[in-house]
Amino acid sequence: MEILKADAAAIAKAADIIRSGGLVAMPTETVYGLAADATNGQAVARVFEAKRRPRFNPLIVHVPDVASARKLGVFSKEAEQLANAFWPGPLTLVLQCHPDAGISELVSAGLPTLALRVPAHPVGQALLQAAATPIAAPSANRSGRISPTTAAHAAADLKGSIDLVLDAGACEVGIESTVIDCSEQSQSPPILLRPGGISAEWIEGVLGVRLQSTQAKPDAPRSPGQLSSHYAPRARVRLNVVAPEPGEALLAFGPQIPPHCGPMINLSETRNLREAAANLFAALRALDAEGCRSIAVLPIPGQGLGEAINDRLLRAAAPRP
Ligand code: AMP
Ligand code: MG
Repeated sequence: MEILKADAAAIAKAADIIRSGGLVAMPTETVYGLAADATNGQAVARVFEAKRRPRFNPLIVHVPDVASARKLGVFSKEAEQLANAFWPGPLTLVLQCHPDAGISELVSAGLPTLALRVPAHPVGQALLQAAATPIAAPSANRSGRISPTTAAHAAADLKGSIDLVLDAGACEVGIESTVIDCSEQSQSPPILLRPGGISAEWIEGVLGVRLQSTQAKPDAPRSPGQLSSHYAPRARVRLNVVAPEPGEALLAFGPQIPPHCGPMINLSETRNLREAAANLFAALRALDAEGCRSIAVLPIPGQGLGEAINDRLLRAAAPRP
């Protein structure tokens, strides 16, 4: 891992790293972000691996301007107002994702929505322009640790698991972006999912209405990954299967497939957990679409990214409310 002063050459290098599937700690006005190409599932899987996150929380996607954001998300009237007022800046909008947005399903952890932000930091902006791809970036710290507001913080937490830290000094805002859910067109007013760099009062001033709080809407959790059966497919899910039953769909892992007839997707023939994570959400969705009664899942090791993969599968298999 290198730490480079964020001059033009370093930004160009960072853009190359991101385009080739690598990870860069990038300065934004809120905190340092752990940046990866949001269209590359394996790069996004590396983000979870580097952060040692035990579950797949949805990530914020960064774009250079509103026009780029429009290609990825569906803007409600309120979203338009907020983007006009606060972008570029420390505001994240959760919107319905365009079906053809091309963003890896791992980014939003299988949700139909996408969290979008246009950062104001000149280095973040320059990197987004140079990389010319949407950048998924959670805070550049190990899971459970404090968000990094200097390059040294990010480097200390992530060294060994990322390729480059772009050093542009301390972050000006120093706390995370405010996250507002504008994803349901019919649902007005929007919901404050996370307080942050822009105050709720300021946002309410622009909208002319009070925001809903997550407390008032218990079905709109602050962290969607925490609902026990949030991502349940229609089919029943059986874990750690050794012998699939007749008529079951099979979610396989590794080179050895037990005898089975029916639809099958292998998350990774080579037992590569990064590849498996990148394929997980699309595979579950595709197998569910086959209309089978149940999906049998072969055992997947629990270390590294396997922890988050198994967490996700446990939720899929949890009893439905
Ligand atoms: P961080 O990764 O630390 O920047 O945090 C990202 C925040 O955005 C978390 O609070 C997530 O729950 C929230 N978030 C990201 N994507 C979505 C989404 N699609 N729906 C709801 N919340 C989201
Ligand atoms: Mg964070």
